[in-house]
Amino acid sequence: MAKPLKLARGRCGVMAAGAGQVKGWCPGALRPMLSGDGLVLRVRPHAGRLTADQAQALADLAQRYGNGLIDLGSRAHLQLRGVTEAVLPALHQALQELGLLDPDPESEARRNILTTPLWRADDPTLDLVAGLETALARAPALPAKFGFAVDTAAAAAVLGGASGDIRIERAENGLILRAEGTRLGQPVTLEDAIPEAMRLLAWFLAQGAATRMARLLAQGVAPPLNATTPPLTAPALCLGPVATGLCLALPFGQMQAETLAALAVAPLRLTPWRSVVLEGVTDFPDLPGVIRDPDAALLRVEACTGAPGCTSAEAATRDLARSLTQDLADELPRLQGAGCQLHVSGCSKGCAHPGPARLTLTARAGRFDLIENGPANGTALYRGLTQPDLIAVLRGRLAQPN
Ligand code: SF4
Repeated sequence: MAKPLKLARGRCGVMAAGAGQVKGWCPGALRPMLSGDGLVLRVRPHAGRLTADQAQALADLAQRYGNGLIDLGSRAHLQLRGVTEAVLPALHQALQELGLLDPDPESEARRNILTTPLWRADDPTLDLVAGLETALARAPALPAKFGFAVDTAAAAAVLGGASGDIRIERAENGLILRAEGTRLGQPVTLEDAIPEAMRLLAWFLAQGAATRMARLLAQGVAPPLNATTPPLTAPALCLGPVATGLCLALPFGQMQAETLAALAVAPLRLTPWRSVVLEGVTDFPDLPGVIRDPDAALLRVEACTGAPGCTSAEAATRDLARSLTQDLADELPRLQGAGCQLHVSGCSKGCAHPGPARLTLTARAGRFDLIENGPANGTALYRGLTQPDLIAVLRGRLAQPN
């Protein structure tokens, strides 16, 4: 089994690496990140799917080797928290036996593939994901966070709002290959989709220092695609019954191992919206903490780990976010349909919601800066707010037209 890299200590996304620093890296199972509550191990299930046995085993591992907390992430992955270095070899061995460990950290980093949670056995999705995994195993190193989306379920492409630099998508009459940052894609077949995706990747890498496809194309560079066809798009999944099962969410995408064990009554498909589809299930499980209501105010609030779980945090976040959600319950649901309305971030990195939110509170030295319609590192409208100030200020801003 491959040995893990030297452990990284530092804030999420910045790993000390010898004399310098590697910015923007993503933790993995083989490259765990040291956080305030121990090591964080990211597990990337193939095609975003865990069998019921894998999910049950991961719940056991989270309790045996971690602190029992499990995060759902925006790359349709999950994270075990509170792991110690001493148990890493045993945990890696267990993940390998479950088919959830890559051969080395470099392969793990390249296998950054989002898969539609609406795939069915008779559509091309699983074949495309397998082909992409094989091709990426031989690919050169990719920029941090560079990823792929296979969004080819028969009904429509639903991952449009989720991160993916190279996308294979469902179109009206077949499949297309699309570069993020463009509206149209090139028609492809099941046979040539992966070779064409690798050709697009090679072109991207040949452009030099660009880190993400959309940023490169925003400079006016055109991808080498005969792009004629739009994807057949549909909105992100709502909570409740979906074509392949039942979609449910957990507050801030975090659960205890016992919850994962209780959900392991069927295969689980992880989504980039930090929700889970229980394959073939029609009724919500009777579990505390599970969010069933697609209009729940908590679904419009994001909060990162914050203090004390993250060493970079300048304040606690989730308890504050819960209490603000309760206090603003009347205001927040009225703004539904526009994505994240309130983002509470423990520092300016904004891990829980990298993009803009209607309102963002960014912790700074125990107080909060308020950013409107911007990301956690955006320009603050108010600085240094104390917690007693927050409700009145947030109410005032939510009463304003967006
Ligand atoms: S955004 Fe939150 S989780 Fe990310 S580094 Fe800052 S405090 Fe930590």
